[in-house]
Amino acid sequence: MTSAAAMIDIQNVTKTYGTLRPVHALRGIDLSVAAGEYVAIMGPSGSGKSTLMNILGCLDRPTAGRYLLQDRDVSTLSDDQLAEVRNQLIGFVFQTFNLLPRQTALDNVQLPLIYRGIAPAERRRRALDVLARVGLDQWSHHRPNQMSGGQQQRVAIARALVAEPSFLLADEPTGNLDSISGQGVMVLMEQLNNEGITILLVTHDERIAAHARRQIRLLDGLVVKDEPNANPLSAATEMQRLQKVLADANILPEVPQ
Ligand code: ADP
Ligand code: MG
Repeated sequence: MTSAAAMIDIQNVTKTYGTLRPVHALRGIDLSVAAGEYVAIMGPSGSGKSTLMNILGCLDRPTAGRYLLQDRDVSTLSDDQLAEVRNQLIGFVFQTFNLLPRQTALDNVQLPLIYRGIAPAERRRRALDVLARVGLDQWSHHRPNQMSGGQQQRVAIARALVAEPSFLLADEPTGNLDSISGQGVMVLMEQLNNEGITILLVTHDERIAAHARRQIRLLDGLVVKDEPNANPLSAATEMQRLQKVLADANILPEVPQ
């Protein structure tokens, strides 16, 4: 499916690592994502998820094929140009949060705006806004080690959002979290998507993927499924179910999400 309105349009993208014993990580991927979509990219270990994510996130280039990001061909850009595109258009969320440990939540969230040369007062205002949006307005002066894993991931999501990217690229965003904290992140993702943020979520977890409105499955570097999810799991409903399961087992969350 190719459309002029696509935000992301990938055509016949391949990625081969090495030359002596080449590994064909992606064997010809076609993918088109429109603004506002909520897509899960699934597949077993080794199927090419990280490779595809690196290409979608402009961290790496395809071996062959074309990548149009907002109608701009980014498949042949230099490293510097790719860095510029990343900074301008893409918000990353990683399994391990990747926050700066000595910096407060506010400083971590402001970082992308420093790279963009935005003035301090404006940076601070925008960072505080987005921290409020992820429910952390009371935590702006805390450092990562003073926060729960779920809160740290919210800071990372705020950092990803602060520069108003075209889309969020999240790689196993709940992979390092307990069930309630992870579900808190999924509630936030759902809320952000309802506000119009485009989300691409890489996961091997079927329950996490069930929240997305479209599911893409990779196998051996090929797309073997690409379907709308007619009945996405409501993150809020799933949160209530989890809370009940834990309460019935007399397990209390150690810290609020
Ligand atoms: P996934 O994220 O789904 O586990 P990857 O994209 O990491 O899959 O890997 C796809 C294939 O490419 C695997 O066979 C993996 O071993 C190989 N691969 C990934 N990165 C590299 C690399 N930098 N060099 C060589 N082979 C790689
Ligand atoms: Mg991977």
